[in-house]
Amino acid sequence: MSGGTYQNMPRKEIPWYPTINTDLCLNDNVCIDFCSNDVFKVDDIHTVVANPYNCVVGCSSCGTQCPSGAITFPEKRDLVEKLRELRAKYAPQKTAASASR
Ligand code: SF4
Repeated sequence: MSGGTYQNMPRKEIPWYPTINTDLCLNDNVCIDFCSNDVFKVDDIHTVVANPYNCVVGCSSCGTQCPSGAITFPEKRDLVEKLRELRAKYAPQKTAASASR
């Protein structure tokens, strides 16, 4: 799932993924156990966001599972705005032939 596209837009251009506040994180691995998309991993002793673009666009469920509130996401309205921008950028271009149909 890493890389790839989301609705014909490059996933890596969509800034949607969790951020861990290391001051709050308990390293209890609740997020690792909860998320099946291999977003988190343990790097030495700390839980880290290892594969941010594996995160499902718009999903923030792990944030509600974290007992210490260490996981945050961007604002959804910022996501909506970015998706609008990217849809315009990657919309199929109309050719003269298709426009005349
Ligand atoms: S669930 Fe929260 S406290 Fe636990 S490892 Fe993940 S980010 Fe840290």
